[in-house]
Amino acid sequence: MESVATSRRSGWRRTYFNVLAIPYWGIHVAAVAGVAWLGWSWTGLLLALALYVPRMFFVTGGYHRYFSHRAYKTSRWFQLVLALGAAGTFQKGILWWASHHRNHHKFSDQPEDVHSPRYGFWWSHHGWILTRDFEGTDLSRVKDLARYPELRWLDRWWFVPPLAIAAATYAIGGAWALVWGFFVCQVLTWHGTFTINSLSHVFGSRRYATTDTSRNNFLLALITLGEGWHNNHHHYQVAARQGFRWWEIDVTYYVLRGLAAIGVVWDLHGVPDHIRDAAPAAPDLAAPPPALASPE
Ligand SMILES: [Zn+2]
Ligand SMILES: [Zn+2]
Repeated sequence: MESVATSRRSGWRRTYFNVLAIPYWGIHVAAVAGVAWLGWSWTGLLLALALYVPRMFFVTGGYHRYFSHRAYKTSRWFQLVLALGAAGTFQKGILWWASHHRNHHKFSDQPEDVHSPRYGFWWSHHGWILTRDFEGTDLSRVKDLARYPELRWLDRWWFVPPLAIAAATYAIGGAWALVWGFFVCQVLTWHGTFTINSLSHVFGSRRYATTDTSRNNFLLALITLGEGWHNNHHHYQVAARQGFRWWEIDVTYYVLRGLAAIGVVWDLHGVPDHIRDAAPAAPDLAAPPPALASPE
């Protein structure tokens, strides 16, 4: 696998315009063109947002807290539901996502951190995911997931669930539902997720003196159903909750609590008091990450 610096030096055309980036840009164009063609619709926006919430839950409760961090336990059938829902958000395979995310925590804001904002906003937002240089999955980091054949299958055929969602929206509601319920919703889900990589290591406060530049950000926590408490998360990654205080809104955690109440998930990993009450970060640690010279 290439180093991030080498990939960055290869230039923006190679990063952003390759065969695998076609669906990404195509869906952006389809969303804008579709809304222009059909005309603005508040009901349409409502549909996009109504579908955004469960899809974002699968990103945070699935890809992130379950598959990457194993922050709670569940049955094999619900694990498959989480996998299908997560893959349905068009962010590549479960094993791919989890292996890159585990590397992010291992190398946070060091040169090996593939989406550190030290490499620039757009790179950390979506450049790293669009380039073909990081298409591969480091299976040694996800052995616990790779032992399930259904997850390996879904990792290979990761584009099937989103295509099925697109087909279902069209079958149920025609072109209008396809545009608002899939294209617009998909663009919102992508950029909502990507703000965690691009913004939550840059804007916000630092409660804990972690070795990275992670921040807590209330607005991002609302947009991402709780992922904006990113400094909390880097401080204690295995917790099922990322809002550590009652006022730190964490919708994903509330959903997980609800699922635990009916026995669908269990053993939600909590936050011990001594971890939550650790000394606050010194102000001088709140400096933004050092910028690297742009390769272009
Ligand atoms: Zn992070
Ligand atoms: Zn994480």
